[in-house]
Amino acid sequence: MKVCYPGTFDPITKGHLDIIERASKAFDQVVVLIMRNPRKRCLFSEEERVRQIEKCLQSAGLKNVEVKVGEGLTVQYARKIGANAMIRGIRAVSDYEYELQIATANMELDEEIETIFLIARPAYSFLSSSVVKEIGENGGEINDFMPEIIVDEVLEKLRKKEG
Ligand code: ADP
Repeated sequence: MKVCYPGTFDPITKGHLDIIERASKAFDQVVVLIMRNPRKRCLFSEEERVRQIEKCLQSAGLKNVEVKVGEGLTVQYARKIGANAMIRGIRAVSDYEYELQIATANMELDEEIETIFLIARPAYSFLSSSVVKEIGENGGEINDFMPEIIVDEVLEKLRKKEG
């Protein structure tokens, strides 16, 4: 079964990577889908995010995972690439409420593409890209939250933003 994991990944965190690793064991093929969202202002460009995720996949040795950039409706994009389901991560009840709404809307749009939820590993249940950016911007240590291979790049960008 081929699934996609849509999100913003600005930048990818250890929480995202954990979901990707678990999905890669459960399914034959996983496509990490960076969805273009004109309403979100991102710190990293799409190209930067693709490269960051690819680096993480390579260093984790995940061979059945690839990265793509999509736009428009996620269900339509999922169908276009031949994915049968979309993976989403749930950290807390607050995620659940939002995700339930999106998943129900997607069900109306395309009955055949399922949304599959994976719950966050407890160690990462507080972790989001925004939290990491906030900590890094304010001089905190982000090594525990980001895949090691991209820590320096993320810190450099946050420092540039400061200056
Ligand atoms: P979006 O803008 O679509 O929410 P994100 O990149 O923030 O994109 O998140 C993509 C998906 O990954 C979402 O389903 C989100 O709930 C999930 N996610 C984010 N952080 C974590 C984490 N620490 N553990 C598990 N799932 C997570």
